[in-house]
This record gives sequence, structure tokens and C-alpha cells, in this order.
Amino acid sequence: MADPPAFDICVVGSGGGPFETNLSGYLLKPHNAEWSAGIIGLEAGSGQGTLSRLLESRPQLFKALDGASRVFTASEVYSFVKCFLLTHAHLDHISSLVLSAGSFGGTRKRVYATKEILEDLEGYFDWRKWPNLASYDEDDEDFKLLYSLLVLDGKYHTVFPDISVQGFSINHGTNELGPYASTAFFIRSDSHPSKREFLFFGDVEPDSISTTPKTINVWRQAAPMIPHTLSTIFIECSWPSGRQDDTLHGHLTPEHLRDELIALATEVYHTRSGGSNSASRQRPQRKRQKHNAPSSEELRDILTGVRVYIIHCKDQITPHEGSSSESVRELIVGQVRSLVQAAGLGVEILAAEQGMYITI
Ligand SMILES: [Zn+2]
Ligand SMILES: [Zn+2]
Repeated sequence: MADPPAFDICVVGSGGGPFETNLSGYLLKPHNAEWSAGIIGLEAGSGQGTLSRLLESRPQLFKALDGASRVFTASEVYSFVKCFLLTHAHLDHISSLVLSAGSFGGTRKRVYATKEILEDLEGYFDWRKWPNLASYDEDDEDFKLLYSLLVLDGKYHTVFPDISVQGFSINHGTNELGPYASTAFFIRSDSHPSKREFLFFGDVEPDSISTTPKTINVWRQAAPMIPHTLSTIFIECSWPSGRQDDTLHGHLTPEHLRDELIALATEVYHTRSGGSNSASRQRPQRKRQKHNAPSSEELRDILTGVRVYIIHCKDQITPHEGSSSESVRELIVGQVRSLVQAAGLGVEILAAEQGMYITI
């Protein structure tokens, strides 16, 4: 517990649309480094424009290591970004990257994503939808963005000094072209004494309605690290309670998020009760649940020490109770919290709010 923090995160935007002023966009740096020394852009829905608005009310958002506040402009902050890490190429996750690509200051920026997502980005930078400002060529300084393939091969890949990432493909619904995938990232500090990591989900549908469940693979990877090495999870809950499964569009509700956290808790239980040999870990989840599901008593408080930040709540078009972004997020987070409390897992449920400074 005496371990120092590993990461600082500034939440530029945490909503799930449609309001363009609060879309998925997080700035990340090693805790013991200055913002000006380099930043990872984790998603790029909201960007410079939103940050410049945020800085009007919170000019001291970016602290220096000596505790003094540094006043940076939004474009200065984005000039410090060395790379972006994208979960998928839906506009609410990449729009500011496309719009700002021509005006970014600083060095050339790597864009890490899977092959499919990089190809989707190429579709935007096609000289018609937008000028082409990205290339795969390492020596092509004229192009501000450098497409950088992130292979999902069960290994960690260095994306930044002392930070490496392991990605997992996750389901984000099915559309007329077939199943659509997003990505979950384990983001690890390689210089931290405990090699602390956190888990960040792109948009994700419930495993319980997927024909090929994939989130379970993420939970299996996470389970042995909880809570000492891994205690912070960012995951979406786009909709409030009560939404029908056939209208989820590849997203979670509070009930489904609770069920996902029970799936994680079950994996932690199996890990701690000696089920971590690879043969049993690779057994299909459904089979194991049927024969070997732990009781709710066995899962009690098993996720103590884990913090789950709810992200990607969808704004309600019809405002009620003042600001609709805030009220719908409070509604959803409250619903998740009471469902998870009733399940007795011991996990802490928090909202990731725009303008927050989160230390991990
Ligand atoms: Zn989204
Ligand atoms: Zn999406």
C-alpha cells in the first residue's frame, strides 16, 4: 500500500455522445514526469477545443511535479502528446484527432490501434473526407500522424517510455457488415515498483448477449492482478436501467455491467482458490459457470480495493433536471452502485467526470 502512484489522468471528455463537447478523451502521463515531458492521448473524441473551454474555468488543471500549477494553453498541452491510443474508430472516439491533425504542434504523433481501426482512420484521411495527414512511413515527417500497428497477441508493447500496453479485442455490437470490435487496454507502468497497471475499455456489449463472448478473456487476464497490481478499471455504461437488449447497440446497461463485474469476481475467486492452472482457465466460461459457479457468499467483498470508473454515459437529448449530461450520468452511476452493492462484491463505483484529475 506504500507504493507510489504510477499515472496521472486528465479527463478531457468522458461522455458517449451525442453532445460533441464531452466525448471520450483522456490525457495520460507517468505520475513522476511533467506533462510537458510527454503525454499519451487515450482516445480522441473531445480534444483541444473542449480542453480550452475546460481551462477557462480550471486554468490550474495541469500540475507540475513540485506541486506548482502550470498554466498551459490547450494547444500547448496537445503539442506534448507523443502518441494516441484508440479503442475503435467511431467518431465519438476520434473526431478531434481528425479535426486537429493538421494543426498539432510538437513532434510527429504515433496513432496506436489495431489493423482494422487504422484502416478505418485511413478512410477519413482520404483527401475527400479530410486531407491525408497520416502515413505508415516512419521517415515521413510531412505527415503529422504516424499509423502504428498495435498487435493483439497477448503481449505488452511499449508505446511510450516506461509504459506498455496489452490490448484485447472486445465486442461492440453487430451491424449490417457483421460483428464490430472495439478494444480494451491494459496500460502498465514498467518503471513502477509494482508494475502497476489499469484497465481501460472501449465501447463494449454484454458477453451475455454476444454469440462469441470476448470480455471474459479480459477478466481472466485481470483476475490474478487484482487488487495489488490492478485496482482501477474504466468501463462504459452507456444506458440507464431498463433498456431492452435488442436496443443496446453494442453498449452496457447497469444490470449488464453488474453481471460483467460478477464475471470478473468469479475469475478472481477461481484464481484465489487455485483454479489458475492453464487447463482450467481455458475451459469455456459457460461450462464452468454451470458446474462450478461460486456462491454470492463466496464472492462477498472479493473485489475490495478495486475502483471502477463509469465512462461513456449517453447524454439525454431531452433535458431534465438542468444539465442533462450530469443528471443522466448521476442516474446511471447511482443505478450501478446500488446493483453492485446488492451483489456484495466490495467494488467501489465512481463517475469519471469531465475535468477530473485522476491519480492511479
Ligand atoms: Zn462511443
Ligand atoms: Zn463506439
